[in-house]
Amino acid sequence: MDKVAIVTGGAQGIGEAAARRLHADGFKVAILDFNETLAQQVASSIEGFAAKVDVSDRDSMFAAVKTVVEHYGRLDVMVNNAGIAPSGSLMDMRQNDFDKSYAVNAGGTLWGIQAATEQFIAQGEGGKIINAASQAGIVGNPGLGLYGSTKFAVRGLTQTAAQELAEYKITVNAYAPGSAVTPMLKAAAHEMAVAAEKSDEWALEQFATGITLGRLAQPEDVANVIAFLAGADSNYITGQTIVVDGGTIFH
Ligand code: NAD
Repeated sequence: MDKVAIVTGGAQGIGEAAARRLHADGFKVAILDFNETLAQQVASSIEGFAAKVDVSDRDSMFAAVKTVVEHYGRLDVMVNNAGIAPSGSLMDMRQNDFDKSYAVNAGGTLWGIQAATEQFIAQGEGGKIINAASQAGIVGNPGLGLYGSTKFAVRGLTQTAAQELAEYKITVNAYAPGSAVTPMLKAAAHEMAVAAEKSDEWALEQFATGITLGRLAQPEDVANVIAFLAGADSNYITGQTIVVDGGTIFH
């Protein structure tokens, strides 16, 4: 029996790489994303399924997960990957930045946990939930304070869900990328480049400073860890956040 994985935000970046890797590992993959067109393109290239979702909306999340279960008949892995990254100092943040980033990053994770858990409990065989945290959710980063705080929240949800859901044989873990070259990071680099009147390449190099392994992450570097958390080799791990930052922070 093929296992079924959902990847939210799988239309591009880390989510796309995770969808491709999970497909290569033998999963049937469903991509749930705000961007229906791109999601559909990625899904068709991996014989997958795509549906539109707004992860910040609980009803939308439950409806989208239901369409996946109707399509594939089951669910085994839920990757709550979709996220947004407001940047700027804390003093620059406004009501809309706060409401939106918490609704998508923390809300999207919570609703994803709930919708997947409902299905896992109905199946009675457990399941794996994998959430997108961030290096910025492990230590505070100037200029990423609001974003980072939503990712601290993701780690909090991950720890509590692991404890509340263990009785259903559900594990809940998270991955914390440093800087991975995706549309999200390229957009942040572009903003930085414009402000400094330098090139986008210069800005990307700034993100790479302080990385022990001397390079930015590719989305596949992060997808490798997602694949580990989705597979049997991580069965005895729950409530943890795995840092994937090429050696930037140490603990
Ligand atoms: P990205 O912006 O390149 O892709 C995110 C995807 O999520 C897009 O396809 C977008 O359409 C989708 N999405 C956004 N809001 C949504 C919503 N409300 N409902 C449904 N889909 C939505 O991002 P990425 O760089 O691939 O990041 C993926 C995850 O990893 C995010 O949670 C991000 O915060 C986290 N992360 C990324 C980095 C990095 O360096 N790229 C670092 C740390 C953490």
